[in-house]
Amino acid sequence: MKLLLGCIADDFTGATDLANNLVRAGMRVVQTVGVPAAPPAAEVDAVVVALKSRTIAPADAVAQSLAALHWLRAQGARQIYFKYCSTFDSTARGNIGPVAEALMDALGCDFTIAAPAFPDNQRTVFKGYLFVGDVLLDESGMQNHPLTPMTDPNLVRVLQAQTRRKVGLIDHRSVAQGAAAVRERIAHLRNEGVGIAIVDAVSNDDLLRLGPALADMPLVTAGSGVAIGLAANFGLAPSSTAGTLPPAAGQRAVVSGSCSLATHRQVQHFIAAGGAAFAVDPLQIAAGVDVVAQALAWAAPRLDRGPVLVYSTADPVAVKTVQARLGVEEAGAMVEHAIAAIARGLVERGVRQLIVAGGETSGACVQSLGIAQLQIGAQIDPGVPWCHARAEAASGVDLHVALKSGNFGADDFFSKAFKVLG
Ligand code: ADP
Repeated sequence: MKLLLGCIADDFTGATDLANNLVRAGMRVVQTVGVPAAPPAAEVDAVVVALKSRTIAPADAVAQSLAALHWLRAQGARQIYFKYCSTFDSTARGNIGPVAEALMDALGCDFTIAAPAFPDNQRTVFKGYLFVGDVLLDESGMQNHPLTPMTDPNLVRVLQAQTRRKVGLIDHRSVAQGAAAVRERIAHLRNEGVGIAIVDAVSNDDLLRLGPALADMPLVTAGSGVAIGLAANFGLAPSSTAGTLPPAAGQRAVVSGSCSLATHRQVQHFIAAGGAAFAVDPLQIAAGVDVVAQALAWAAPRLDRGPVLVYSTADPVAVKTVQARLGVEEAGAMVEHAIAAIARGLVERGVRQLIVAGGETSGACVQSLGIAQLQIGAQIDPGVPWCHARAEAASGVDLHVALKSGNFGADDFFSKAFKVLG
């Protein structure tokens, strides 16, 4: 098998976001958890290797990204895509600059782009300045991010501070005129010694116009938006077959460790519609009660009657109370651990269609289920696809899983998701 596109993502939900866009553009995609030990489990056009390299030491991020590159090239990947967040999340040290540079060195390429724009998600770039909705990046709340505070909206400056290569700009005038003008601009920038160019894009049309100009680039660095214009370079067009998964069977369950507003509404909606639900109380876990066994004993007789929900989702006041008693990180880890053990227990008891709500919670569940690769299916709601995976740590069974990060999905997400699967 020859891989068309090999992707390296700097975090897990970002990887899913990219994989979802590639599927919508007509590519068959597998997402892997870290650098895989084995070739892709299915015949695919693209693989997205999900790392957790956004905020680790630059040298570690470089080493992990190069390991991913090595594996992707061994699978024959024709083009490499380094994916980061559409808000260009990085620290003063990187890791976008150092990783991009290391990939360029390894691929022997002297020019690439840096294009975080994702207009569908209100992330646009104009004159090199990144906007989130109607405001500049440094007024968007991102200036207060605990790990990657973004205090300068000018991406040429931000990236230049992270790399020895000269950073330039492919501005909107070129992008608006189409691929030929972009190519001309790239030639001009190369002459000036520019190695990496930020790209302006304010609409999906901009990204689609940009696509053909990237056909011969060994390395593309971007948010997930640029993906919509790349599949056509490989002769692929949007189709519903790219997201086809094996037929779904087995019992259905939802586990939720997300306390985000959207999840809160989804849990309420599920309960109001008469769904069976079990609340996990963090204080009980802390008191030594075997909440995992309780939840599984509660679920077992109900699984035949329809989807069950096990949740720790709570309102901000309740969460604050628990955090004050147990500590923020301790409470988080304790709940994640319990939900992940419950997810595994449910799969061992016959659940084959599993929704997980919460980004960190998803990471914990994927780990406890022993999932190494996910084949990406159709989108349920923007940014959340159904996936198909083997749970090596849960009797090695195959199952359908949807990993929903906190604020994604409509209020009826849980019921809608199972309906979509048929
Ligand atoms: P989201 O995607 O909504 O941010 P995450 O799973 O990433 O969800 O993060 C939610 C965090 O809150 C997890 O660490 C989880 O264990 C923790 N948590 C969940 N329920 C509670 C609760 N009732 N009290 C305290 N912490 C909780």
